[in-house]
Amino acid sequence: MARVRAQVVQLDRGLPLVKTPDGALVRCKHATALVKEGNVRAVVGDWVQVVLDDDADIAQIAEVESRTRAFVRKDPAERQLPQTLAANFDTVIVAHPLHELNVRRLERELVLAHETGAAVVVALTKADLAQDGRTEGDLALVRHIVADDVRVLVVSSEDSESVEELRACVPEGTVAVLIGRSGVGKSSLVNLLAGRDVQQTTPVRETDGKGRHTTVNRAMITIERGGSVVDMPGVRGLGLWGADAGIAAAFPDVVELARGCRFRDCTHGEEPGCALAKAVEEGRLRPERLESYRHLAEENEAQKLKREEAARLATRGRKRRKRS
Ligand code: GDP
Ligand code: ZN
Repeated sequence: MARVRAQVVQLDRGLPLVKTPDGALVRCKHATALVKEGNVRAVVGDWVQVVLDDDADIAQIAEVESRTRAFVRKDPAERQLPQTLAANFDTVIVAHPLHELNVRRLERELVLAHETGAAVVVALTKADLAQDGRTEGDLALVRHIVADDVRVLVVSSEDSESVEELRACVPEGTVAVLIGRSGVGKSSLVNLLAGRDVQQTTPVRETDGKGRHTTVNRAMITIERGGSVVDMPGVRGLGLWGADAGIAAAFPDVVELARGCRFRDCTHGEEPGCALAKAVEEGRLRPERLESYRHLAEENEAQKLKREEAARLATRGRKRRKRS
């Protein structure tokens, strides 16, 4: 038996595939203690301690190292639980179609991206489908709503040169996470960056030596002349999970203006002395942007309350069990 440090590069139906220091790909399961006691499950990007056992048909993850960074959303299955989708990355690339700009959705994606603390890049995709007359305006709008440190790139899978700037955002040794609605062109971008077709179904060598076809849910893909990207297909819901920092980072203009509100706990609704309402009136803030901000802030607060309530109920349940 040997114990090595490895990184999770793929997750298939909950079973991690890790890359060991010598480059081997090893299928793993979690040690029972991890799941039962710690409720810990490794995600793509996690660094883990793996126990390799020649006699066992599958290796075992004994420990998941603490994460420098994580992409977390509310578990879409109603329960008040977070769901971690990827760990230990440097950059979040938000892919959004230039010709079908949905500012509301983009603002949400930016909140989740900023909440991770990683660098944020917006890739406006399918540029070849954008109408000449509208592109400039749409691009200006996106540049206007993103924070100063967010790079905005225009890409098209029809023009391989266009992804070179994006490649430069993922230098060797770094990891980027790619988010965005299904169909916006993420897989096409990954293929261009990887320089090959990265298929949804990849033959995976099991540790017992048998090749087996596995449905890939989430994978870290090495790109040409660069680091790696984590594609997250099938990630639909982007519910907020504790996004105070993300909201502040995604709406720096609004946060700055809100410092001028008369009441510190102003909800920017009907209150007198609301600096945001005034800014909208005077044309210094787009009404849709204020609307988006309020919507996301409200969702964040509501989710926080629900989470606290769930924690209270859990504590009460534990106490009751102790007494009986
Ligand atoms: P994903 O679901 O985000 O991974 O999106 P895909 O990469 O699978 O792309 C969805 C569809 O859009 C496919 O039919 C692609 O061929 C098409 N597509 C992707 N990128 C572009 C692009 O830049 N221009 C055009 N015209 N079509 C694209
Ligand atoms: Zn206000």
